[in-house]
Amino acid sequence: MDTTCIMCPMGCALTVTEQDGKVVVTGNTCPRGEKYGVAEYSHPERVVTTLLKTTRGGVVSVKTDRPIPKDKIGDFLAWAAAFRVEGVVVTGDVIAEDPVSCGARVVATADYGV
Ligand code: SF4
Repeated sequence: MDTTCIMCPMGCALTVTEQDGKVVVTGNTCPRGEKYGVAEYSHPERVVTTLLKTTRGGVVSVKTDRPIPKDKIGDFLAWAAAFRVEGVVVTGDVIAEDPVSCGARVVATADYGV
């Protein structure tokens, strides 16, 4: 698997392979790249940002408070499309606790209705 390390602006081009049951990363300039490559190969995750509609017709920007597995992102976006935020929101408010059962809360990244 070829990928790009996103742990710093250098963006090293990584190649990740499996040899004798071990994940091997090449192309990294530092140990963080190896750690990233192994994680990306074994259990890729992303912090997800999106907009949630409100009951008053606006939108609130939110993000997950930790990375979620890539295979849960579709479920998360389906939840986000159906969910409606009620009332006033302040940056940092928890909008939902673990909506797709992977341990990530949804937090507001901007005020709404303040
Ligand atoms: S491998 Fe190291 S130097 Fe290269 S992008 Fe990743 S963190 Fe930066």
